[in-house]
Amino acid sequence: ASLKSGQLREGLEPSRGAEPAAAAAETAEAKGEGKLLVCARCHSLRHYGRVKHPDAERLLPDFDFVAAVGPRLASPSGARSLVLLLADASDFDGSFPRAVARLVAAADEAHSADWKHGAPANLPRALLVVTKLDLLPTPSLSPDDVHAWAQSRARAGAGADLRLAGVHLVSAARGWGVRDLLDHVRELAGARGNVWAVGARNVGKSTLLNAITRCSGVVGRPSLTEAPVPGTTLDVIKVDGVLGAQAKLFDTPGLLHGHQLTSRLTSEEMKLVQVRKEMRPRTYRVKTGQSIHIGGLVRLDIEELTVGSIYVTVWASPLVPLHMGKTENAATMIKEHFGLQLQPPIGQGRVKELGKWVTKQFKVSGNSWDTNSKDIAIAGLGWFGIGLKGEAVLGLWTYDGVDVVSRSSLV
Ligand code: GDP
Repeated sequence: ASLKSGQLREGLEPSRGAEPAAAAAETAEAKGEGKLLVCARCHSLRHYGRVKHPDAERLLPDFDFVAAVGPRLASPSGARSLVLLLADASDFDGSFPRAVARLVAAADEAHSADWKHGAPANLPRALLVVTKLDLLPTPSLSPDDVHAWAQSRARAGAGADLRLAGVHLVSAARGWGVRDLLDHVRELAGARGNVWAVGARNVGKSTLLNAITRCSGVVGRPSLTEAPVPGTTLDVIKVDGVLGAQAKLFDTPGLLHGHQLTSRLTSEEMKLVQVRKEMRPRTYRVKTGQSIHIGGLVRLDIEELTVGSIYVTVWASPLVPLHMGKTENAATMIKEHFGLQLQPPIGQGRVKELGKWVTKQFKVSGNSWDTNSKDIAIAGLGWFGIGLKGEAVLGLWTYDGVDVVSRSSLV
């Protein structure tokens, strides 16, 4: 059985041919064809401890990158480390690996004096990689604007002056930006560098690493070997052949972000929430006393306005239904429609399971109807774009622990 690189991590279930793939791996090894071929199931087993499945995955413990890889990042005598910080264009703030970004920023900060003489050789460097760019309405966006926007959001996420060696906007699905990224990674890694790819679960890391591997001209199947990180040999995977003889590229397990709504959804609910095609806006003109629901997941209340009405644009999966109505009916909506007409959650019983329903207030001001002034982004779901001439007080409701941020608008 042959295993194409694209199938590497497609989550093959045991019933769907994991045995032939495993058998192929064994045969390849038995034939002495060099590196062990790791089938999707084995790769998943190594990364997640079991076959990739969202329902199972969300119950698994997080990978502690800071503890496992941190000490190796800035070894004084070691090779240069490069961290690829991956963030999903459709959920930038929710998916951005901020703890790892903070680690890189802290290493920089600790050696700030050395910077006078140029970048100290062994400080870890970071590239920001924005994945799934094809999900944004790219024709109406300028790459320069997205670039600057992503950089400023990364800094906000790191909570520090994160020094980035570069920003790459990519779509592994379309092949956009993959070659440039590979060239830059090779240049920064040099002859002996270690490169660590880091990102939240589902950020598109496997798809990107497969695309990079194909782009690097590795003939045939990419081969994976375990990385020599003490105590984490089952977690960190070395991707061979991509970076020349001595430099190494490591794939690390997807981070579990409890602040992303998706981290608490079932696989069926995830299917509704995950954005698969270019996002399309759904816009409402709303007044004080009105509310917009995104499924049974989020509600935005228009509490006070200094103008008659504002425009609210919802950027989220088209499979999640929206509802606009009076705020005074909101309690009835939860009781009667959450889990039914307003899905996810799927089933009324799931509403309580998702957590406590809590609110956060935002004050937004703007001076144009035509462009959005601010986004209110909900981690793991999408965002509201707010267009207004004047000031608004908005109440955002969602489940406790889900991150909600106000940011400069993307679109
Ligand atoms: P990982 O968990 O970070 O390894 O993520 P995967 O590579 O498994 O991708 C997660 C989901 O995002 C899958 O459904 C992929 O098909 C999808 N995906 C990955 N890359 C892209 C991309 O460039 N564009 C789009 N539209 N979807 C992508």
